[in-house]
Amino acid sequence: MALFDRFKKKNEDSEPNQDDDSSGAMDSQESSSAPPEKQGLFAGLRKVLQRTTQAFHTDVRDLFKKDGQLLDDGLLTQLYGMLIRTDMGTGPAREIRELLQSEFRGRVVHLEPVLDVVKRHLNELIEQSERPLQFAESGTTVVMVVGVNGSGKTTSIAKLTARLTGEGKSVVLGAADTFRAAAVQQLTVWAERLGARIVTGSQGGDPASVAHRAVAKALESNADVCIIDTAGRLQTQVNLMDQLAKIKRVVTKQIPDAPHEVLLVLDATAGQNGLSQAKGFSDAAGCTGIVLAKLDGTAKGGVVIPILQQFELPVKFIGTGEQPEDLSPFDSRQFIDALFSDE
Ligand code: GDP
Ligand code: MG
Repeated sequence: MALFDRFKKKNEDSEPNQDDDSSGAMDSQESSSAPPEKQGLFAGLRKVLQRTTQAFHTDVRDLFKKDGQLLDDGLLTQLYGMLIRTDMGTGPAREIRELLQSEFRGRVVHLEPVLDVVKRHLNELIEQSERPLQFAESGTTVVMVVGVNGSGKTTSIAKLTARLTGEGKSVVLGAADTFRAAAVQQLTVWAERLGARIVTGSQGGDPASVAHRAVAKALESNADVCIIDTAGRLQTQVNLMDQLAKIKRVVTKQIPDAPHEVLLVLDATAGQNGLSQAKGFSDAAGCTGIVLAKLDGTAKGGVVIPILQQFELPVKFIGTGEQPEDLSPFDSRQFIDALFSDE
C-alpha cells in the first residue's frame, strides 16, 4: 500500500529515537506479516484479536468432543468462565449462560450452535455499524482527542493523520498536551514523518492558546482537518477537566460548530479500572466517539462490549498496533465474528 510504503521509507530514512517517552510507536519492529489490506479487513481483525480468540478457542474446543457434548451444569460453568475471561462483563456472560441453559441443557450439542447463540446475543447487545468521522459541512473540521495518560492519544492522532492525508486531506496538528515536553516532541516527530503541519507551545504553556493557534493556522491555510492533542494528566482532575472545557470553548469561538468530534481514546488493556477513569473524560469533555487503542495487545477483546454499553458512544476506530496504518473502522458484527470465528 502506498501510504504504508511511504511511511516505511520515511522511517528508514530518519534517525533513531532519543527518548523513550517520545519513542512510542516509532521504534517498534516492522510487522513481518502482509499489510492488512492484503489480508482483508476480517483476516486483519482476526490477527489482531488473536490473543483473545486463542484463549477462547483452545479452551472451548477442548470442551467439545467431535460427536457432541452433553451440556450440563459443569459445561455451562466452564463456558461462563471463558466468556468472563474475554472481559465482556458478568452481565452479558450471565445472559448467555441463561440462553444456553434454556436452549440446550441436558442435550448433546456441538460447538457451532453454541457459538451461534453467543454471537447472536452479543450482536443484539452491541449492534453498531461503522461510524465514520464527522466532518464540517464546509471548511475546516476540528477533532479534539482526549483520554487518560498513556491510553494512546498521540499515537492514535498519528494514525488518524496518516489516514486523512492518505485520503488527500491536509492536516494541522495542535500539540496542546503542554504538560510534558516529551508529548510535544512525540507529536512533532509524527508530524514530520506524516507530512502534517504542527503548532506547538512551550512546556507548561496554556493548552487553549495552542489549540487556538492551531485552529487559526488551519483556517488560514484552508486545511481540511485540525487535530488537537490534549493532556491526560494534570495536577488535579478538576484542573484537567476545566482545561478541556476551555480548549473546547476557545475552538468554538473560532468555528461555531467545532469541535466536530471529541474522540475519547481508551486503552483496551486497561481493564475495568481504566474504564471508570476514562468515564470522567467522557462526561466532562462531551465526547462524540471512542478510539479503542491497543486491541492487539490484549487477550480480553471482549472489553468492547462493556465499553459500548457503558459509554453510550460509538466506537469509531480501533487501534491495532503501533504503526500509522494500524487503525481500522469498527463494525460490531465483523468484530464479533472475528472474535469467535474458527480459522
Ligand atoms: P498518550 O499518552 O495517550 O498520548 O499515549 P501514546 O500515544 O503516547 O501511547 C502510549 C503507548 O502505547 C506508546 O508506547 C504507544 O506506542 C502505545 N500504543 C498506542 N496505541 C497502540 C496500539 O493500538 N497498539 C499497541 N500495541 N500499542 C499502542
Ligand atoms: Mg500523548
